[in-house]
Amino acid sequence: MDEFELIRRYFARAPAAVSACRVGIGDDAAVLQPPAGQEMAVCSDTLIAGRHFPHDTPPADIGWKALAVNLSDLAAMGAQPAGFLLNLSLPQPDPAFLTGFASGLFELAQQHECSLIGGDTTRGELSISITAYGWLPAGTAMLRGGAQPGDQICLFAPLGGAALALAQWPHSAPGVRAALLRPQPQVALGLQLRQRASACIDISDGLAADLGHLLQASGCGAQLDAQAIPLAAGLDACAPAQRWDYALHGGDEYSLCATLAAEPLRALRSEFAAPVYVIGEIESARGLRWRGADGQINCLPNHGYRHFT
Ligand code: ADP
Ligand code: MG
Repeated sequence: MDEFELIRRYFARAPAAVSACRVGIGDDAAVLQPPAGQEMAVCSDTLIAGRHFPHDTPPADIGWKALAVNLSDLAAMGAQPAGFLLNLSLPQPDPAFLTGFASGLFELAQQHECSLIGGDTTRGELSISITAYGWLPAGTAMLRGGAQPGDQICLFAPLGGAALALAQWPHSAPGVRAALLRPQPQVALGLQLRQRASACIDISDGLAADLGHLLQASGCGAQLDAQAIPLAAGLDACAPAQRWDYALHGGDEYSLCATLAAEPLRALRSEFAAPVYVIGEIESARGLRWRGADGQINCLPNHGYRHFT
């Protein structure tokens, strides 16, 4: 099976209208005709075997996750996903791998009506790089830099499941295993937050690190309340220091953290079906503070996952 046969067999599918793709797979470049009045949000993320997922990860989960991490970034901007490019490097054209990979990839793509419009295929170590794009009304993108003192800091999913599953790998309990392998990008939530949240970020590098980025961009600080942090099932069995390390610093957490003033928060709560966890408040004093279960307030180091350190 050569490169072209591989693309035809596993990846060439007709793009949906929302992708705005006039020319897709099969020419030198895709051609898009963006909808009037919309801006394009575009992002890219790479997964490398052994670094971003264990070598023995099921292929369908690799396909799902490669797209999910990108849709999470689009969700954090408040964009409606529309399409993506797939740059795939693999050691050999293994049909079992490709069938599984494509099934997980397209399962998530179909849930969000997000079309594959092109890419590149090469031989090499297993790595998957996806560039995804989506639309949002011009001027409405949610940025990291808009948080104001007094805004409430909100989460919309429990923390620490993915980090716990990775630590337990390959014997992860089913609940946390799904958090690691099948993260659900919060696309619908992102659309509901747009024009309500003062700032938003996805916490893929861990809450402390990514909230730190939001605070830096907004020029302010925050205090978090330990007792308000939602924890994934299974974390209660961990020793406290371990539990908080997973919850605050564990990466692979593809959910949103947003800041909202009181009125937009009320409006969101009346519309959003799932729980909204208020975990702290934005303050004008810089830095990230932490009120423990004992009421003591301490500074929180903002280390998350970093390449090249
Ligand atoms: P070129 O040599 O002109 O760069 P390629 O031979 O790399 O073109 O790709 C041929 C067509 O197949 C292009 O439209 C490209 O976007 C598409 N393509 C290549 N690899 C993939 C892939 N992994 N998934 C989807 N489309 C792909
Ligand atoms: Mg090419």
